Amino acid sequence: MRLIFVSAVMLLSLASGVASASTDCPGNPGALGTSRTIAVDPVEHTRLGTMQYPETLPLRDHEVVLTFDDGPLPAHTNAILDILAAQCVKATFFMVGRMAKESPEAVRRVFSEGHSIGTHSENHPFHFGEMPPERIRSEIDDGIAHVTEALGDPAHLAPFFRIPGLRRSDEVESYLAGRGIMVWSADFLADDWRHISSTQVVRLALSRLEAKGKGIFLLHDIQERTVVALPVILRELKARGYRIVHVVPATATEPKTATDPQQWFFNTPPEQTPMAKLSVQSIWLARAAPITPSSEIVLRNQTQESFSIDAPDEGQQGPLSKSATNHTRLPGSWPIAAEGFNSVSPLEAKLIAEPDLRSFR
Ligand SMILES: [Zn+2]
Repeated sequence: MRLIFVSAVMLLSLASGVASASTDCPGNPGALGTSRTIAVDPVEHTRLGTMQYPETLPLRDHEVVLTFDDGPLPAHTNAILDILAAQCVKATFFMVGRMAKESPEAVRRVFSEGHSIGTHSENHPFHFGEMPPERIRSEIDDGIAHVTEALGDPAHLAPFFRIPGLRRSDEVESYLAGRGIMVWSADFLADDWRHISSTQVVRLALSRLEAKGKGIFLLHDIQERTVVALPVILRELKARGYRIVHVVPATATEPKTATDPQQWFFNTPPEQTPMAKLSVQSIWLARAAPITPSSEIVLRNQTQESFSIDAPDEGQQGPLSKSATNHTRLPGSWPIAAEGFNSVSPLEAKLIAEPDLRSFR
């Protein structure tokens, strides 16, 4: 049986997802801005980022958290700060202790402009997770000490850590958890540490964000190509209806933002998902990889009854575009829903014939 069906609920979800954020940015009424701040408890949620962990930040569709690693390096970090300030965007910086020791004034500027500051080890060694335990601990501790020294007040440092090279190990994670420090992986990258052009950085950033729809975005404030790419990325985020979220640690004066446990998982568990969420999930799965003429999407319900949907022909908008005239198809998306699934059926979908086969429940 071959079925293609558009749900009105799904179209509404899509429309609300691209609504633009209101901003309050003096001197720049058209700024991207920071749409909201969330306070997180590192003890309650110890590891974040779907690139490596089950949990990530409790973001809504079209929400992005900007993060910058490896600095500060004044020549580029200051340019990044100027770009963020012009758009009233708040980010999180994961600083290297040795760099902070060399440029304490840059550390203080990042803090005074309202960004969150976490750490990224003392010397950024490669093979971080494979080092002897005592070396792992001293790299973490020394990095924290030097960034704190530059800030002048331990309370100004967020208990956030990004593992160099994302080279995790149980040893690294258990030591950080023991210190009450939250490990931040990422949801997507733009490969801005590689020898690629700033145009390629922009292209990777946007295509990977469009594929995920939201998430923690990892960049580097020590790279010239990032300085060049960032204004374009921010302009495109604004144009495409994305919103920036700032993350701070929960404290006695800033209580943690209220969330449901399931919001910390990228895919909302299907058994607790009403039809609207299923539809959003379907959109996301369709956006997880580009649809090509050779793609096949298989949706399967609990009874293993399956429905296949042919991919659109090259150059076409997708099989639904003719009837769905009241919304714009997002790049890479192929909004679908399958008739016959009720609100509680677990939905398993597979996108076949792509280089990286993805399967979602
Ligand atoms: Zn790094």
